[in-house]
Amino acid sequence: MKWMSKRFTLVFIPDASQSVRRYSVSASLLVLIPAFFILMTVCAALFIYLYTDNQDAIGRLAGHITASQEQHAEELSTKNNQIAALESDLAVLAEQAREIQNKMNDIAELEAQLKDIAGIESSEVQISSALTMESGGQGGEEFPLSKLDDEQLAEQTMQNFSALAQLMEELKPSLESTMEAMLQYQHIQDITPSIWPADSRKITSTFGIRRDPFTRRTSLHSGLDLGGSRGDPIYAAADGVITLSENTYPQGNNIIIDHGRGIKTRYLHLNKRLVEVGDTVTKGQQIGELGNTGRSTGPHLHYEVFVNDTNVNPMPYLKEDREERE
Ligand SMILES: [Zn+2]
Repeated sequence: MKWMSKRFTLVFIPDASQSVRRYSVSASLLVLIPAFFILMTVCAALFIYLYTDNQDAIGRLAGHITASQEQHAEELSTKNNQIAALESDLAVLAEQAREIQNKMNDIAELEAQLKDIAGIESSEVQISSALTMESGGQGGEEFPLSKLDDEQLAEQTMQNFSALAQLMEELKPSLESTMEAMLQYQHIQDITPSIWPADSRKITSTFGIRRDPFTRRTSLHSGLDLGGSRGDPIYAAADGVITLSENTYPQGNNIIIDHGRGIKTRYLHLNKRLVEVGDTVTKGQQIGELGNTGRSTGPHLHYEVFVNDTNVNPMPYLKEDREERE
């Protein structure tokens, strides 16, 4: 490296008229200046190379970004459409939940009415009140659908459906027990004398103390006399079993029906008997014909009602026409 400390003299000879110029420069400067220029050239080349390469990469990235943006915009649009469809479905479901709730309320109310008719204590009242409370709590009128945000609406609808499912679970056994009670009620209706045993409404003698038409002495008239024509149909006052069907004096042709629960009805002075002992009859079924057999002053039906084998006034048992039941 010794030569680096040496100095060189550069001689410039412009032309013959001018003087020669000398410049003294160090050897290191002679090396460093070209080296600096070479370095600058390499840097510039490198910069140009990298810049061009980056520009390409930027172009490619920009292309990707644009494609991604388009794809995202498309996906967003699809999602928005899906959300709109879901919102619409949700509104429909919410409305359906409300309708079902109203119908459940109607059913619960109907059940309460049925229980009332059948005279059953309504032990399932909490169902109808729970439903009312539920629908009241939703406040359909107070919070219209449009005012609720989707999340609230979805949550509320889910709660509604879950409450409905629970109420249905509760209502089913309740309805079953009501149906059973109604069937029992219907059975009691069927076996309780309630219809007029003849078409005639002409009462010729009532139940109680009266003067006997034959002996003229006061005695208990054990039934109700209905005037009519020979051959008029005579009907069973309720469902039951025939326990007597015979022709005796003074009853004439007469029939007894046992309705169960200690209640019996008896039909006397019949022209004809149409049933035998052991037959089962239904309320309103013809069992014989009105007549004048036995100790009788003219064609009529003597109708008796027994409660625990004691004659009672049949009047309270004449509640309805046979036709009303059909
Ligand atoms: Zn009589």
